[in-house]
Amino acid sequence: MAINWLQETEKRRELLLQQLTKLCSIESVLDESTANPGAPFGEKIAEALSYMLKLGEAAGFTTKNIDGYAGHIEMGKGEELVGVLAHLDVVPTGDGWISPPFEPEIREGNFFARGAQDDKGAAMAAFVAMQMVKELDLPLSKRVRLILGTDEESHWRDMDYYFEREKMPDMGFTPDADFPIITAEKGMIDFTLTGKVDTNEAPADGWLLESFEAGQRFNMVPDLAQAQLQGDGDVFELKEKYQDFLLSNRIQGYAEESNDHLTLVLEGKAHHGSEPEGGLNAALRLAEFLSSISLDTTGSQYIRFIAEKLCGSFKGEKLNLAQSDDRVGPLTVNGGIFRYQIGGEQGVGLNIRYPISGELTAIRQQMETEAESFGFTVEVVDHKKGHFVDEDHQLVRTLSRVYEEQTGEKGETMAIGGATYARALETGVVFGPLFPGREETAHQRNEYIVVDDLVKATALYAQAIYELAK
Ligand SMILES: [Zn+2]
Repeated sequence: MAINWLQETEKRRELLLQQLTKLCSIESVLDESTANPGAPFGEKIAEALSYMLKLGEAAGFTTKNIDGYAGHIEMGKGEELVGVLAHLDVVPTGDGWISPPFEPEIREGNFFARGAQDDKGAAMAAFVAMQMVKELDLPLSKRVRLILGTDEESHWRDMDYYFEREKMPDMGFTPDADFPIITAEKGMIDFTLTGKVDTNEAPADGWLLESFEAGQRFNMVPDLAQAQLQGDGDVFELKEKYQDFLLSNRIQGYAEESNDHLTLVLEGKAHHGSEPEGGLNAALRLAEFLSSISLDTTGSQYIRFIAEKLCGSFKGEKLNLAQSDDRVGPLTVNGGIFRYQIGGEQGVGLNIRYPISGELTAIRQQMETEAESFGFTVEVVDHKKGHFVDEDHQLVRTLSRVYEEQTGEKGETMAIGGATYARALETGVVFGPLFPGREETAHQRNEYIVVDDLVKATALYAQAIYELAK
């Protein structure tokens, strides 16, 4: 029996948009202030979950709400379980929207609303896909579960809670990033390197580093760095040297004097920490300049660490951490947070992404060896193991074939440095909803999804669900 999936989806286009409009009208941003038993992440997130589960019941599926942490909508029969994992929480909206973020609007074929792309659009597409498979009365030999999480944007407490109580699907996909298929994601470690800074004296004709500051987050390239100096050196000469450095490197920044302090500011360019070479790391460049002048011993040691171990070493070469595999590529190091205060503390926050073949223990030991020689104490503050599904796995082969059949494009697999919801599944990959070449608007103002893409994604999910569970 040949089914025209896209044609079947077209019949449900209006239904899809109506239901999505209702879902996107719910302001499901994490709100601990309205949290209560049954609504651990706030009332609005609980409302979005119960809206979806009610739709599921009305469509004749089995549903379950796991104490408001997550829920599922289930169809089919059999021992084996196929999972589709989407989330209903959204990030805050920020200002500057053309239409209100929780009053969905279609303009020029684009559906605008917070959550349109991340991830309510995909959650609804997957739900309508299940409805379609049911209405077409297709025989299934496995169960299919649309698992709806509610804390993806914050701490993943939804999935911890859910999988402590519910069966792990034998395989599944999450429609929470890009088409075609993401099968591999790097491991991730956030390190803090900390130490004390005693009060200190400026060297003769040199400078005392009073403070150094850049960055707020481990996984972002800092776009601004600032250092404060004090001393009897030649201020004029230093300012000129700094200007030369900025000019010859085509970097924005300035030096400012006030009450015998000299402040150096350097403007970089922010970028996601999974690609530390992208953007311009303001801290690294400022440290590079500071390493060329005479500083007090502690200040100089701090700056030397950045200049000698991080500058120009985005693959961990100078920390002796460089490694790579052919699944996800090289280890990367992002210097995300820098704090130095005379008479206080010094710290560096590093985000490291490592290949599937890498090991936390070995990386930590090497980091300790390198950082302790500069007087730092090393701590792992966050760790996520790498995630990988073999290209030959039935899951990957099926999704790839479905994608090729419906789009006529190659159902290629991809590896990324970032972390997706697929990691919550033991055997899980990303499958959509963003098609290649489309603008990524998740987490941005005027978030939207192309309506025709949403319809195409629904058709893909329907066939995928059927092929995986038949
Ligand atoms: Zn998401």
